[in-house]
Amino acid sequence: MAEGDEAALLARFGQVKARIDDSVRAAGRAPGTVRLVAVSKTAPSTAVLPLLAAGHRRFGENRVQEAASKWTDLREGWGDLQLHMIGPLQSNKVLQAVSLFDVIETVDRPKLALALSSAIRQLERRPLCFVEINIGAEPQKAGVLPQEADQFIDDCQRRWDLPLAGLMCIPPQHSAPDEAFHQLAEIAARHGLVELSMGMSEDFPQAIAAGATMVRIGTAIFGQRPDKPV
Ligand SMILES: *Cc1c(COP(=O)(O)O)cnc(C)c1O
Repeated sequence: MAEGDEAALLARFGQVKARIDDSVRAAGRAPGTVRLVAVSKTAPSTAVLPLLAAGHRRFGENRVQEAASKWTDLREGWGDLQLHMIGPLQSNKVLQAVSLFDVIETVDRPKLALALSSAIRQLERRPLCFVEINIGAEPQKAGVLPQEADQFIDDCQRRWDLPLAGLMCIPPQHSAPDEAFHQLAEIAARHGLVELSMGMSEDFPQAIAAGATMVRIGTAIFGQRPDKPV
């Protein structure tokens, strides 16, 4: 990565961290209660290295294949890395996902939960799991429907014995996200789940105000992705 690009990347990263701290303070929450997942999907390893060198350890990827080729070697040098799976997960990639990721944020159907449960037993590796909720009940979106969430969460905990840490959502695109964030927090509270993964580049301050414990931020750190219409 060219020196100027690296400086710009680190500057954006610093700004995002400062804005997270500001939002935490504005919400009257304790410092350090929100963790940043730097979403490095489509970013090359040359773009994650400067962040690793700067001490950042938590990254998010949305495709198993891309994550495997980017991170398998990188992991070796950074033992305390926390790699989050934040994209749709196919059942046939579950073994690979459980061996690679530390957190799987997209548990969204019984077949996947069952596959995760058996992969966890087989590999003796327990990545923290999040249930993804389709909080706006949008037809094109992944995630468990809000009205099915309670039963599914219960099943994940009791029936499949998943190491469930919290809930994740992507709010509906064309409405104010605040209500969606609060709804996710309510569902989590009903089940005693403490982690809330919500908030992206455009809406993380609102998510933090609503109780997010993890924000997933790509564009504001790495810049506009090629796959994203401008
Ligand atoms: C890409 C992605 C993000 C990051 O989005 P930005 O708008 O680039 O910050 C967060 N969460 C999920 C699930 C994603 O796929």
